[in-house]
Amino acid sequence: MCNLDNPNKISSIINDLGSPAPAPAAELLDDLVSANHILFDQGIVDAFGHVSVRHDKDPERFLLSRNMAPATVSLEDIIEFHLDGTPVNAHGRAVYLERFIHGQIYRARPDVMAIVHSHSPTVLPFTVVSDVKFQPVCHMSGFLGQGVPVFEIRDTAGTASDLLVRSNELGRALADSLGEASFVLMRGHGSTTVGPSIKHAVYRAVYAEVNANLQRDALRLGRVVYLSQEEAQTSRINVETQIQRPWDLWKSRVTTRVK
Ligand code: MN
Repeated sequence: MCNLDNPNKISSIINDLGSPAPAPAAELLDDLVSANHILFDQGIVDAFGHVSVRHDKDPERFLLSRNMAPATVSLEDIIEFHLDGTPVNAHGRAVYLERFIHGQIYRARPDVMAIVHSHSPTVLPFTVVSDVKFQPVCHMSGFLGQGVPVFEIRDTAGTASDLLVRSNELGRALADSLGEASFVLMRGHGSTTVGPSIKHAVYRAVYAEVNANLQRDALRLGRVVYLSQEEAQTSRINVETQIQRPWDLWKSRVTTRVK
């Protein structure tokens, strides 16, 4: 416990604390495993990046894979965590260095039930260009609102960090930057998106990457007309009633990998 905020700590093997909450719903665990596979299949994560869900039996806990590539996650790789990033049942398995992203956002945002952190390659340039806001160019990405916040890790970690959110202090700073938004860019690193369910968070992570492609293409052509605040809100509400459809499609592509 005492070394969670030590930025010099390299090891990602952490002692367990406490005992597990009642078992999560089987469907929640299945969706979390599927989300890991879908995010790889859709090009949102590679060997890096992760997805979590808040525990359905204890809002002070969350579920996240052990330290491994998302495409290879199975049910037995899912670990329960306290919101401070301490594992409950890692049993000596390495955990993600950036698990503090998840715990501190769940702590700050009771409405958030799932989180995706990625370095998806088309979004990333928007984290480092300060004079172009990342904004929705079509109805599928209204969740980006009128542009998204940018987390500047230098404000907390100084100018010599490895840019990883490797402490609760940095997790809190990221959660502060996210505020009430659905998506936050992380300068020189990637992005984090949140949602009221795993399916929402996965949808938003995929369509943020789609929007980045479209916005980059549009910017090459000329001046861009972005969705208005009202259009972004209306399209977000309506499109996100339809997220079962892409989820079913994406899941069908990875079914052979799902246990
Ligand atoms: Mn990262």
